[in-house]
Amino acid sequence: MSLDHKVIRIELPTPFPIGPVNVFLLRADKLTLIDAGMKTKEAWNVFEEALRKEGYKVTDIEQVILTHQHPDHTGFLEWLPSDIPVYGHKLVEPWIYQDEEFVQQHNELYRNFLMEFGVSDDVMDTWLRKATAAIQVYSPKGQKLAGYLKEGDTLPYASEWEVIETPGHSLSQLIFYNRKEKVAFGGDHILPKVPSNPYLEPTIQNPKPKPLLDYLASLEKTLNYDIDLIYSGHGEPLSDIHSLIMERIQKQHKWALRVLQAMGEGKKTTLEVSAAFFPDMYEKAPDFIFSEVYGQLTYLEKEGYVELTKNEEGVLLWETTRVLAPQS
Ligand SMILES: [Zn+2]
Ligand SMILES: [Zn+2]
Repeated sequence: MSLDHKVIRIELPTPFPIGPVNVFLLRADKLTLIDAGMKTKEAWNVFEEALRKEGYKVTDIEQVILTHQHPDHTGFLEWLPSDIPVYGHKLVEPWIYQDEEFVQQHNELYRNFLMEFGVSDDVMDTWLRKATAAIQVYSPKGQKLAGYLKEGDTLPYASEWEVIETPGHSLSQLIFYNRKEKVAFGGDHILPKVPSNPYLEPTIQNPKPKPLLDYLASLEKTLNYDIDLIYSGHGEPLSDIHSLIMERIQKQHKWALRVLQAMGEGKKTTLEVSAAFFPDMYEKAPDFIFSEVYGQLTYLEKEGYVELTKNEEGVLLWETTRVLAPQS
């Protein structure tokens, strides 16, 4: 059977700016669902209808494999029959189980980041609420993994698919690679139209992540694989992966230089850089904007364009060290 007949893409609506999300049915030794959509009635109905068109029902699914923990990829785990085993990176589990201790730890670590970014005490709770709203509303709760997937594993009952760890967009991000067919399931590691936002997701195992730097390392790692096609988590499948990755790495550098220009002179907090670079957006979507801006600042620091210090309250201060010629 050719891969075309083995892989069925099902596109489901999301309420997020990224638009619809893909889940995939993989006809392997077991009927496998790659990712578990969005926890909305609308997405669930579209999913059931798509299964029906293919001659399946929800109870025919024999296992679920997760590319990463984001709510648009794990949301309706809660609504699948509880005896279907679910596999993913071990870091996925706390986000889909969400016990009290994890939620509190995450909020504390996030609060600490917001403090370091320059968010003041009087508005801290409001910002924290905004930054964690999507997880609270749309992530599943009480879900466990039947097994953990790590670098070098093959997928259970689908052994032609290798597991490759590609942290960055999320620390739990995996891609699944079929070496013979030169095809991969990519989750959100590489998306068709937009760069993947490397999300700031502090956890007790990794309280001070630098997701953009992880992401760039994972993109470079991906260049080592001969991949003709990626089934992406959003949009159409992607081809010509190598050129796309090279283009994304170059665009990322240019984007960072634009952030640098927006900074101007003098020491700035992450909040101030966010307000300068995304004046219309930073208050509406602080999780997205802080992930983006903090990511760019860590990149600029690594590349020697900015210097990082802390004031006596522990707030991070970024200062340009190189004056750029105007960009054409
Ligand atoms: Zn994602
Ligand atoms: Zn996604």
